[in-house]
Amino acid sequence: MKDALRGKTAVVTGGTRGIGRAIALEFAERGADLLLTYRGNEAAAEECRRLLSAYDVRAEFLRGDAADPAHAEAALARAKEAFGHADILVNNAGITRDKLLLRMSAADFDEIIRADLSGAFYMTRAFAPLMTKRRAGRIVNIASVVGLRGNPGQVNYAAAKAGLIGMTLATAKELGSRGITVNAVAPGYIATDMTEGLPAAQKAAMTEAISLKRAGTPTDVAKAVAFFASDDASYITGQVLCVDGGIIL
Ligand code: NDP
Repeated sequence: MKDALRGKTAVVTGGTRGIGRAIALEFAERGADLLLTYRGNEAAAEECRRLLSAYDVRAEFLRGDAADPAHAEAALARAKEAFGHADILVNNAGITRDKLLLRMSAADFDEIIRADLSGAFYMTRAFAPLMTKRRAGRIVNIASVVGLRGNPGQVNYAAAKAGLIGMTLATAKELGSRGITVNAVAPGYIATDMTEGLPAAQKAAMTEAISLKRAGTPTDVAKAVAFFASDDASYITGQVLCVDGGIIL
């Protein structure tokens, strides 16, 4: 497994904290060079840089807002300049703004669609030509079980993640003939900053609903992403893999 991705370049959006950081570390473990994007938390980016310095890989960092199409173009320019190519794209950056439907403003809805769905579209559109040129590539979208089964208080987030799953399927069909696979990983309840602030009762109820009776770790998700990015997954495309401890059962 070590060095399985040596010579490859992986772009991970939101790659400096939580699930994205775990993906970056899994890729580094396998020898991939990295371009990690983040929105603004410099301390997390610095900590990520420190952790990655233990590996024999190059790691580039780019600050910007996934919701801005210009950020995707900047990421493409940086990847070209630093590495000349990009083999793997993980659309992981995402946020939540939970509110019940009747209290959700248009701004609350649009903000999540732009960050969690449009952002992945901008990055995929930017990087697909680079992958097409080499007739090889791996795109992995980080969706959510919420995009498959819904969740009260997350109409915006469920819509974005369901949209991301639809985008995964359509993109897999469009890019398959170019040797590019496109898959989605749908995490359940994973212990990160995103879920840290949820009420204790909600966390307990979610844990109880999980067959394995524990929250997932970022590494649980990262292992599945690393599989889709690997040669072992070269004949798998358009799939959605739930990494949820059985919460969806
Ligand atoms: P975290 O909040 O821990 O980390 C989010 C990362 O994304 C950070 O690096 C953050 O940058 C970056 N980011 C957020 N918004 C933007 C933006 N607009 N532009 C650029 N970067 C951005 O989140 P998680 O690790 O928990 O979540 C990662 C993904 O997994 C998300 O797509 C989420 O929806 C999905 N997911 C998470 C689940 C969970 O239980 N945690 C469950 C199901 C899906 P910065 O540090 O600078 O803010």
